Amino acid sequence: MSFDINKYEPVIGLEVHAQMKTKSKAFCKCSTAFSAPPNTNVCPVCLGHPGTLPVLNKNLVEFILKLGLSTNCNIRERSIFARKNYFYPDLPKGYQISQFDQPICEGGHIDLDGKRVGITRIHMEEDSGKSIHDFASDESLVDLNRCGVPLIEIVSEPDIRTPKEAFDYLTILKQLVVYLDICDGNMEEGSLRCDANVSVRLKGAKQYGTKCEVKNLNSFKNVSDALEHEIERQISVLEKGGKVIHQTMTYDAKARATSPMRSKEEAHDYRYFPEPDLVTVKIDNVWREKVKASLPELPEEKAKRFIRDYNLPEYDAAILTQDRAIADYFEEVCKEVEVRSYKTASNWVMTEVMRVLNEENIEIEGYWIKDRNLSSLIKLIAEGKISNNIAKEVYQEMLAVKDQDDTRQHPTYIVKKKNLLLVSDTGEIEKIVRKVIEDSPKEAERYRNGEVKLLGLFVGKVMKESKGKANPQKVNELIISILG
Ligand code: ADP
Ligand code: ZN
Ligand code: MG
Repeated sequence: MSFDINKYEPVIGLEVHAQMKTKSKAFCKCSTAFSAPPNTNVCPVCLGHPGTLPVLNKNLVEFILKLGLSTNCNIRERSIFARKNYFYPDLPKGYQISQFDQPICEGGHIDLDGKRVGITRIHMEEDSGKSIHDFASDESLVDLNRCGVPLIEIVSEPDIRTPKEAFDYLTILKQLVVYLDICDGNMEEGSLRCDANVSVRLKGAKQYGTKCEVKNLNSFKNVSDALEHEIERQISVLEKGGKVIHQTMTYDAKARATSPMRSKEEAHDYRYFPEPDLVTVKIDNVWREKVKASLPELPEEKAKRFIRDYNLPEYDAAILTQDRAIADYFEEVCKEVEVRSYKTASNWVMTEVMRVLNEENIEIEGYWIKDRNLSSLIKLIAEGKISNNIAKEVYQEMLAVKDQDDTRQHPTYIVKKKNLLLVSDTGEIEKIVRKVIEDSPKEAERYRNGEVKLLGLFVGKVMKESKGKANPQKVNELIISILG
């Protein structure tokens, strides 16, 4: 069956959970370390034993303030926690401590390229434990290490209109939490989790359609694929004269389809009520301003500064600032080179450095070429001592030396050892030029008769003859003067 998808407009709102990088849990001193053996990072507080009292982790508050302030949220001066009650085997307390009607951050926004997405709220809560079903077919195991691990939930307004915008929103949000150093941003490992709400309506309609919520999305690509499929499903329901039912869907990436998980109409009431064991969180001006002053330079500002200070194209600035550590590496490289080489430095980081990161599947922290050694390589190019092609060869040699403090990784060492310096000695180059002209009398004649485009041919021959080591600028000058 075919129908006109373009009659409809999707409406999307995302709920993102981000696991905070605090050392200890939200309300007790247990470690949040990921790799501990099951049920070892637990205590009476996070296990919910009667008579214990939770105490709020101050770092969690600072972390959420950082994100709230960076997304232009209003910070509530007094916010409270609430209990969200439900039964689940990996939730020993029988409720989750969360925030409900008085979240700490509200009314912010994130700007995509040419589009503003509203942030309804950002609140603090605790994670539940984990049930593990895949050990044996007839039993489930419970690991409570994750109980009480701090999460923040970021709820967007239904301002997103396409799966691509959802993807971009998540990309920017991830970049932000990683820059702020509050979350490691890894969706595959579950430190960022996204539930996608989506509805469709006829273009021009004033009211939103009935939404479904898609869960189990473990990559940005999955989110946009799942949305794509869910939008098509909803449109086809409507086109067949049916109604979209408000329900929770799960996405099966292999089958590339969404299917109902449970109906929201049967969903229980969480019986939220104010958490009696925790005091009100008070954020005064002093605290708020202190956190504000501690914010790092964010990607957008950094990109603007790169355009201004290093005179880079917008494209370069965007690529280099995607990752804070890569941006730092680039700046270190630039410290040692001249202003006119900033663009060369950008090219090297964007292509040769990032290629190695991709090939090796590593972060820049694991990249083993010292920034100063890359600076030296760029200086050799700028000073005309080696050509771009030879620089690539030297770079390969540098890569082979894995210890960045080993002097054998230094480009001048490699250039010397392999005898790669460009020949700039006019006498020596002149000899080659004269020989090449002698060997090609016909072309020389044609050049003299005005076929100047043959210059390239002579340059090529001289470069070949010199095994790539003649200084190309000198070669050009000499050919023109000898032939001319
Ligand atoms: P619920 O009460 O079902 O939790 P909320 O109003 O709290 O719904 O919204 C949850 C998320 O769903 C938010 O991100 C919001 O932007 C989004 N949302 C709300 N209404 C719609 C809709 N009609 N279509 C798509 N997304 C929506
Ligand atoms: Zn604990
Ligand atoms: Mg809700």
